[in-house]
Amino acid sequence: MSAEERLIRYCRIYTESDPESGTHPSAERIFDLAHLLVEELKELGLSDAAVDEHCYVYAHLPSNLNHPSKTVGFIAHMDTAPDFTGEHVNPQVIHDFNGEDIPLGNGIVTKMDDFPYMRTLKGKTLIVTDGSTLLGADDKAGITCIMEALAYYHDHPEEPHGTIAVAFTPDEEIGEGALFFDVNRMKADFAYTMDGDSVRVMSDETFHAASAEVKVAGFSIHPGEAKNKMKNAGRIAAEFIGLLPDYLTPEHTEGREGFIHLTGMEGTVEQASLSFILRDHDAGKMLGYQERLRSVQTFLNQKYGEDTVQVTFRNAYRNMKDVLKNYPEVSKVAEEAIRWAGYEPETVAVRGGTDGSEISFMGLPCPNLGNGGGNFHGRYEYCVLEELEAASVIIRRIVEKTAEMPL
Ligand SMILES: [Zn+2]
Repeated sequence: MSAEERLIRYCRIYTESDPESGTHPSAERIFDLAHLLVEELKELGLSDAAVDEHCYVYAHLPSNLNHPSKTVGFIAHMDTAPDFTGEHVNPQVIHDFNGEDIPLGNGIVTKMDDFPYMRTLKGKTLIVTDGSTLLGADDKAGITCIMEALAYYHDHPEEPHGTIAVAFTPDEEIGEGALFFDVNRMKADFAYTMDGDSVRVMSDETFHAASAEVKVAGFSIHPGEAKNKMKNAGRIAAEFIGLLPDYLTPEHTEGREGFIHLTGMEGTVEQASLSFILRDHDAGKMLGYQERLRSVQTFLNQKYGEDTVQVTFRNAYRNMKDVLKNYPEVSKVAEEAIRWAGYEPETVAVRGGTDGSEISFMGLPCPNLGNGGGNFHGRYEYCVLEELEAASVIIRRIVEKTAEMPL
């Protein structure tokens, strides 16, 4: 089976996760792909391959070295984003892409003016949708490059490798991919999620993430009688927002700049609430954002009375760099492998989180690597076949270099 055939086969299987179900996995249908992968893993010699009750697949390819070595792991997620339908996916293959607009079908065209980066893919082989669904290269391209590497070792038993651990997870797209991840069952020294786009990109840094809930208590009274008595919670909430600087919002930040983002607001005269998410790569700056919200709270309580405004914080996830800085070899070996596969490595600080950020804090250092896909979560999604194949070469190079690492 070629990488192309493999990707198309996985993409055709309907595995959309469901943010409303409250179950784990969020949709039973994700088991359809899990069961298929368990069978394929067994055929490739990973005899312990199994899926657990929460739809996590784990498997190990035993070492064929005559000395002990570290175990490297590779992780990809099986579900597709609920943002756009992933049912009846019908992938199309474009050979020798001409760099011009792509008529996907169903009256939908991928316009190069909308996605100028795609012009650089001229001459490559693209796998695209028929315009009616997403593709699911996020993250079935990740599964494909891992399976391709394992197939290579199956066909080349003479190729030396240490133990390789593999995991396929459900529900990454609804933020629950790491929820039931079992590092003890994974039994790896370090791992990589294969869940980025371009294979030249390695991400060993994510945001620190927290949320803030602001509650405003007002005092409602007939507006005709309100003078010097009414406290309008809605207006005080608006004042709260106004006291935060514009420059600290997502629409004014990029790169390594963090933000305080208003995600929701509701209110009456009697009571109002605001929801914020706080993000920064730097833990100190994150604390600064919390301090800023607290000082707005203090100011408004002095103005309107004690207990008018109350801010509470919740931590979400942390920057994986806090863990990975203690394992520089994990990032280094990946960069070297990307270069070895013919790409100039680029290290990018993710403006968000990955499953690897949580998994890293579970004790398994886990940066993110690319899989050749692009335009994720919609009908313009594509995968570059040459990059998908390179991702599998990168995996093999990491395996090779892991065997040489001191224990
Ligand atoms: Zn993904």
